[in-house]
Amino acid sequence: MKILLQFMDIIFERFLKVYYDKKTYETIKRKVKRHIDVYLFPNRVKEQLYKRQGNCLQCGRCCKLVFKCPMLQEDIFNTRCRIYGFRSKVCRLFPISEEDLKDVDYQCGYSFKKL
Ligand code: SF4
Repeated sequence: MKILLQFMDIIFERFLKVYYDKKTYETIKRKVKRHIDVYLFPNRVKEQLYKRQGNCLQCGRCCKLVFKCPMLQEDIFNTRCRIYGFRSKVCRLFPISEEDLKDVDYQCGYSFKKL
């Protein structure tokens, strides 16, 4: 995992910083990490989720990381996911760690306990 993230840093430094600012790049990196963790390291995810508290406010902030999810439907009165019951595991589990909250500027119904 660490090697992959270092590799991504090199790619960013060499090629991607023309297209993305540092904050967007960090968001992309955390998004990649979440996918890897959810599908390859479920025990790590389980440990993190044990520290999580709160509830989803269904604000849709995590559905707009890097790009707006095409399944997100927004109007002035509400925000909803068109495939809520069938959404991916990564969507279901956001945020997995305290670091993920950076992606939504800490404006999320969840927080993490310090153990
Ligand atoms: S940012 Fe947090 S509160 Fe908002 S939809 Fe995502 S998980 Fe729910």
